[in-house]
Amino acid sequence: MIANLVIEELRSIVGKNWVLDTPEDLATYSYDAFLPEFKPDAIVVPSSTEEISGIMRLANRERIPVTPRGAGTSICGGSVAKEGGLIMAFHRMNKIIEIDPENRCAVAQPGVVNADFQKEVARYGLMYPPDPASLFVSTLGGNVALNAGGPRGVKYGVTRDYLLGLEVVLPTGDVIRTGGKTLKNVTGYDLTRLICGSEGTLGIITEIIVKLVPMPPAKVTLQAIFSDLDDAAKTVSAIIGSGIVPTTLELIDKVVLDVIGNYGGAHFRKDAEALLLIEVDGEAALVQSQGERIEKFCKERGSVEVERARTTEEAEKLWQARRTAFGAVASLMPNCIVEDATVPVKRLPEMIRKILELAGKYRLKIGVLAHAGDGNLHPLIMTDLRDKDEMGRIDRALEEMYAVAIAMGGTLSGEHGIGIAKKRFLEMEFSPSALRIMRGIKKVFDPNNILNPGSFL
Ligand SMILES: Cc1cc2nc3c(=O)[nH]c(=O)nc-3n(C[C@H](O)[C@H](O)[C@H](O)COP(=O)(O)OP(=O)(O)OC[C@H]3O[C@@H](n4cnc5c(N)ncnc54)[C@H](O)[C@@H]3O)c2cc1C
Repeated sequence: MIANLVIEELRSIVGKNWVLDTPEDLATYSYDAFLPEFKPDAIVVPSSTEEISGIMRLANRERIPVTPRGAGTSICGGSVAKEGGLIMAFHRMNKIIEIDPENRCAVAQPGVVNADFQKEVARYGLMYPPDPASLFVSTLGGNVALNAGGPRGVKYGVTRDYLLGLEVVLPTGDVIRTGGKTLKNVTGYDLTRLICGSEGTLGIITEIIVKLVPMPPAKVTLQAIFSDLDDAAKTVSAIIGSGIVPTTLELIDKVVLDVIGNYGGAHFRKDAEALLLIEVDGEAALVQSQGERIEKFCKERGSVEVERARTTEEAEKLWQARRTAFGAVASLMPNCIVEDATVPVKRLPEMIRKILELAGKYRLKIGVLAHAGDGNLHPLIMTDLRDKDEMGRIDRALEEMYAVAIAMGGTLSGEHGIGIAKKRFLEMEFSPSALRIMRGIKKVFDPNNILNPGSFL
């Protein structure tokens, strides 16, 4: 519980309407896209860096936990108040401060929605590549804090690869700036990259400088259906090994294809065991010839049907299955657990086989969706939290799955972060010495552990 006097002090910083504490507000902010719910004591909605600095000084003085929150689409429980206290929301800080075509960069506040940002920079013939599938709601602040990736990651990389600089309010209330508008910067430790992906545990991101790239003039979109999942998975590593760098290389397995079909999305032929959605972008002549090569490649490796979009509308239609996948799967059972195991791309077929084996062994309904081109798998576990026996089997299956992913040279998380979802597995990937360094870093930034406590460390 936060004392009334402190709530009044908060109101004096942000204005009386911007501290929310009705039961409806608390319920609304008590969950994100992961499973457990945690009620905050209040939600504070600042409008400036100065206000955030004031809030953090107060929170640090009173030892009140503060959890930053963008759109709350975190799949690892990053944006819920695990130890109560304040949720800090950024929807008043949603301005694009500057688009600077000469320096090919832009400056934005954390509450800007990714898709809105993409649209604005496109008006200058520029592109901001990080495109998490949640882009129509997720915010740049959340994207930076979780180092979001997305379907374009195969060619363009992830949020970190576009981040030039940050303004950050530390848990003590101090404000720091890191990086800037230059492409090159090797001055001191790279705090920009340390904060990126730190899951809102080191500082509050209040301003973001990102690099932009020229909008590619053309793209070609293809969909390849396979009657054998293994053939599809092997085609992924074969395409990557061929020298073509696809923009997107997504895989959807039969379980998910069937759910999409029943949901009223696209329908696929009966023998479809897997679908690859492939996109290449660049100069028109080049992408046309790459499209032809990929088509041939897929057919040679067992694809039973390849469709190449001739218009933007046809391309959109091919994207429909991928775009509806999450919604379709989430609608099937009361809960859906989205996992994020990531392996070197050559090990993708093996990892998919392992996931299917675990589904059988532990009697689970698991569909596989993957940013396959970068080995980033999203096994989707359709379940019901109230089924304690099944939750126990899921726990055991996940432990086995992540142990295998790490043994293959992979990682616990390609893009969703650790949060509370995978905290128990951290020791599989890091030695005690590495974890000691991370805990030490957290202590330097946040001596009283008030920022997003209960998260992954
Ligand atoms: C349907 C669906 C599809 C998704 N697809 C993808 C995908 O393709 N790729 C991908 O990477 N992720 C994906 N995600 C996960 C999620 O959308 C991303 O991680 C996204 O970056 C979170 O943004 P957000 O604004 O919702 O942040 P939130 O969920 O609100 O917060 C995420 C984390 O960032 C911290 N945070 C938020 N704002 C700030 C700030 N200003 N300063 C400091 N910390 C902050 C929070 O404390 C939390 O730890 C998906 C999620 C869903 C539900």
